[in-house]
Amino acid sequence: MVQLARGTSGLRRWYRRAVAPFRATMQPMESQASADGRPIPTDTFGRAMRDLRISVTDRCNFRCTYCMPKEIFGRDYAFLPRDQVLSFEEIERVARIFVSLGVEKLRITGGEPLVRRDLPDLISLLASLRRPDGGEIDLTLTTNGSALRQLASPLADAGLKRVTISLDSLEDAVFGAMNGIDFPVARVLDGVAAAIEAGLAPVKINMVVRRGINESSILPMARWARETGVILRFIEYMDVGHSNGWRLDEVVPAAEIIDMLATVWSVESTEPSYLGEVAGRWRYQDGGGEFGVISSVTQPFCRDCTRARLSAEGRLYTCLFAVDGHDLRAPLRDGSSDSDVTGRIEAIWSRRGDRYSELRSAATTTLPKIEMFAMGG
Ligand code: SAM
Ligand code: SF4
Ligand code: SF4
Repeated sequence: MVQLARGTSGLRRWYRRAVAPFRATMQPMESQASADGRPIPTDTFGRAMRDLRISVTDRCNFRCTYCMPKEIFGRDYAFLPRDQVLSFEEIERVARIFVSLGVEKLRITGGEPLVRRDLPDLISLLASLRRPDGGEIDLTLTTNGSALRQLASPLADAGLKRVTISLDSLEDAVFGAMNGIDFPVARVLDGVAAAIEAGLAPVKINMVVRRGINESSILPMARWARETGVILRFIEYMDVGHSNGWRLDEVVPAAEIIDMLATVWSVESTEPSYLGEVAGRWRYQDGGGEFGVISSVTQPFCRDCTRARLSAEGRLYTCLFAVDGHDLRAPLRDGSSDSDVTGRIEAIWSRRGDRYSELRSAATTTLPKIEMFAMGG
């Protein structure tokens, strides 16, 4: 694991208080079964598969410097041709199979998912899926928010439950530079308002923090989130993909962010909502709501990682930092039965041994990892 010079003791304390006791209550993985009695597949570390992130496109209208730098992903970049992208029916079929295997949460992502035409139609298909015990699926979506004014209501009507919106600063100069196209803050804020009006609550906001770029936005963003009632999640800048020129000294450790907030408000850690939750949860003691920290670099959470990712072209990835995936599109298109596809997914998951963030080193950061926008963030 990459060693960081400072600022992780607060997170260790948080882990001991909030996560370790929770982990101790975990059921032994081998005893897990879906409601219909079918065993839930577990990987080589005993981790079940609970969440599926579905990328509906590798395209995006932004060019965030930490994800899709415009110097590399310019006009000539070859995105996936349409016939290689899974259709809504194919996505629904594979999602149904994942749900039958114990997946309880579906997150639609990309690229920018809202650039995929007719997205509410896909949401309708997915919203009708039921878990083996008849329960509803937790169906959510991550977006840059640029098209939410038009789409928040249709998405909610189609059955979307919640939404996470990315916003890195309230200052146009900072945000415009980070999103790579000078997209104005006001348009995203309007998207946030539209999501709230449409009932896609609680709205979560993802803020990637990069040293020297948007640290000065941390406190203003926290103030705004408290006033607006949204849940802000600070994300450590990660070495996803291989194009963003990631450097460890640009990571602002989550502990440092918490310390910064604690100079203004009294904050305390709180219980994770569920095992495998990505964000460490914190709350303001004055009743000003909660915030989260996603500390993939300074405090990896691989041991509780229950996430699979399906790319727009139908490749299954078992880690955000994978260098390769597994083709599911071929069996979806060659007449294979649901049972064949199920067996393939079970076999892939049962061989899984990913724990990239725990092993991160100078050598791993230069691996030819799949880009986050291509895999599904
Ligand atoms: N386009 C949508 C968006 O930006 O919300 C969804 C896809 S995006 C890849 C998903 C999330 O990944 C966003 O919140 C984005 O800020 C985050 N992200 C992208 N690159 C990152 C990086 N290098 N480090 C940390 N988070 C990153
Ligand atoms: Fe697009 Fe999201 Fe990547 Fe930004 S983070 S370039 S909005 S996919
Ligand atoms: Fe999961 Fe891979 Fe992230 Fe670890 S590094 S938490 S295994 S996605």
